[in-house]
Amino acid sequence: MADRVLVTLDHEIRDADSQLLYADDLAVVRGDGVFETLLVHGGRACKVEPHLSRLCSSASALGLPQPDLDDWRFSIDLAAEQWGSDVEGVMRLVYTRGRESGGEPTAFVMVGPVSDAVSKARRDGVSVLTLDRGFSVDFSANAPWQLLGAKTLSYATNMAALRYAEGFGADDVIFVSSEGNVLEGPRSSVVVARGRTLITPPHEQGILPGTTQRALFSVAQDRGFHCEYASLRTADLIVSEGVWLVSSVTKAARVHTLDGVELPESPLAEEFADLVDLAIETAGLGSGEA
Ligand code: PLP
Repeated sequence: MADRVLVTLDHEIRDADSQLLYADDLAVVRGDGVFETLLVHGGRACKVEPHLSRLCSSASALGLPQPDLDDWRFSIDLAAEQWGSDVEGVMRLVYTRGRESGGEPTAFVMVGPVSDAVSKARRDGVSVLTLDRGFSVDFSANAPWQLLGAKTLSYATNMAALRYAEGFGADDVIFVSSEGNVLEGPRSSVVVARGRTLITPPHEQGILPGTTQRALFSVAQDRGFHCEYASLRTADLIVSEGVWLVSSVTKAARVHTLDGVELPESPLAEEFADLVDLAIETAGLGSGEA
């Protein structure tokens, strides 16, 4: 098993320690590109088709050439095979506008290890700080060039929010809009349980559509949960029967503390984690689901 894997879209397996990018790559100088993060589990990448579908919509939001899906699928399979099935891995698909001096987009797949922080968040849950994102829920509709529904490489503010929260002893963040609506985490979607109803805020409020949340809703509905998109306030999180940050690699991190207030144990904790596992392992399998 390799400890890191790098595959370029021309189907070349590269030395993961070799230099790959030019200094004028627009991802380096402008953060101009899109990406996806997938879990590699049991020797295969999970939810490939939903991630490729989002890669395409992000690329079209940025006016990048449409990704060649056959090349991506081939490179993803090759990278997962190189990684092997011994341990889980984090796979990134990176697609940039290419060099400022011209030429083709830059595209590659890399795989590395899952961090200890991820294992801890899955196991123990997370303490979360709510942070004002500084814009209203209609910002995305009024300013589509802000690319709020696209997964762009410009993640500096998301990472800054996480460092800010860390300074207050919190593990993660939930962004809220200027009017106090719950939005999403810097790397995750927010899902709340009210009885056997699962709720997440509507994507139109300036939220990245999460592949994990979507797959979860599909699996949960089949198991008798009611799932809905609805506006949530911070108070709704506190009185809920469980709040989770869900994402492809961390899967489900239960929020045990919100703004310093300890939340009660969720009666759904185990069932929810199982549902997310199932959703991640089965989404897009053979159905071409996007
Ligand atoms: N929202 C944001 C801002 C994210 O960065 C991510 C994942 O990185 C998510 C939501 C969750 O998306 P997914 O479930 O596809 O990993």
